[in-house]
Amino acid sequence: MTTPQSWEARAEAATLYGFTDLPTIHARGTVVLTHGEGPYVVDVHGRRYLDANSGLWNMVAGFDHPGLTAAAQEAYARFPGYHAFFGRMSDQTVMLSEKLVEVSPFDRGRVFYTNSGSEANDTMVKMLWFLAGAEGKPQRRKILTRKNAYHGVTAVSASMTGKPYNEVFGLPLPGFLHLTCPHYWREGKPGESEAEFVARLAAELEEVIAREGADTIAGFFAEPVMGAGGVIPAPEGYFQAVQKVLKAHGIPLVSDEVICGFGRTGAVWGCESYDFVPDAIISSKCLTAGFFPMGAVILGPELADRVQAASEAIEEFPHGFTASGHPVGCAIALKAIDVILNEGLIDRVRELTPMFEAGMARIGEKANIGEVRGRGLMGALEAVADKASKTPFDGSLSVSERIANACTDEGLICRPLGQSIVLCPPFIVTEGQMAEMFEKLEGALDKVF
Ligand code: PLP
Repeated sequence: MTTPQSWEARAEAATLYGFTDLPTIHARGTVVLTHGEGPYVVDVHGRRYLDANSGLWNMVAGFDHPGLTAAAQEAYARFPGYHAFFGRMSDQTVMLSEKLVEVSPFDRGRVFYTNSGSEANDTMVKMLWFLAGAEGKPQRRKILTRKNAYHGVTAVSASMTGKPYNEVFGLPLPGFLHLTCPHYWREGKPGESEAEFVARLAAELEEVIAREGADTIAGFFAEPVMGAGGVIPAPEGYFQAVQKVLKAHGIPLVSDEVICGFGRTGAVWGCESYDFVPDAIISSKCLTAGFFPMGAVILGPELADRVQAASEAIEEFPHGFTASGHPVGCAIALKAIDVILNEGLIDRVRELTPMFEAGMARIGEKANIGEVRGRGLMGALEAVADKASKTPFDGSLSVSERIANACTDEGLICRPLGQSIVLCPPFIVTEGQMAEMFEKLEGALDKVF
């Protein structure tokens, strides 16, 4: 309940909300949180919520992992902050770069640090533009992504993002081209097989390259599973078909692993789950298990050599953030990688996936759930007014928003995304907590439908 001095009123009075449905806030108030316990978060009134959103895909080891908390405390006590420029960087930064190359799909490479996934995508685009200039191909600047893709919020990464809401900012910037979203259920033509759909998307890519000119295109970016686009797994053979076209034209493929990286799909990298090796990886979120804001560009050998050579030629790579390679962030990332890889968290994703898929499939039997999709521990349930025709619901408050609100009332946090409800629980959930998640979701759905 919102009263003048309540936390809810104070939150609304002094905060400019991003990515938040304001009518919902005005009607319901903000959930003001004080702390977390395992996969739960607790609000100022002492209510507990099972967070099936893992914070924002990132708190995969839970909210109070003792090893991560201790690593953060030790790192702050030792060296609370520094940059990675001008000939200096912390020992933690050196160790993290080695570790990231070691766990990457590359046999060698180089890492550049940012504070977020958006900045990592921005940085990667600037690296490609830097190469274009340095290699005597200044026109090679266009960036290809897909409709519905999410790559971030900075001017460049929002231009890469294929969501219509960016029009309010006058984005995308020129030169950012969005290809068909690889969502077979929505985008497949009547009678078209999944293989034919993939062939059509590869042909579209070929056509766009022919139309624009291969030597005007700097790179192609893709999430292995589109996350904020509504959890859209790539169709079978998609990345192989796309990569074949890109390779033929010398266009780098960048895998945006901000969500998929470090376990979400049941492998260290999403590209591993989809059996392709990109030219570079964008990492963030689970890189620190959400315990520190950090992003990284991991360049594979060829791009690493080219960016290094271009930098040598002008004696530096003129780019970086004050907190690039922050020693606390790097120490936490080293611990997070250790926790994810050595405390069996990825095994846990694989163990839990069948139960997750079964729970999703059960809910998918409901009349108003049109599609159930996902990979590993990321899934979406798409609500439809009519299942046969796939007709979406309409109304001022989206159906997914109504479901998410009903979930909050049940003590479950999950994310409304377009017409879908997204579930991406922390990797540490128990079978009991997974069952609780589906029970609460079903309770909420029963209230809405
Ligand atoms: N790329 C992908 C695939 C993401 O899902 C996100 C955030 O959700 C980003 C980039 C942007 O990351 P950040 O919010 O840390 O800027």
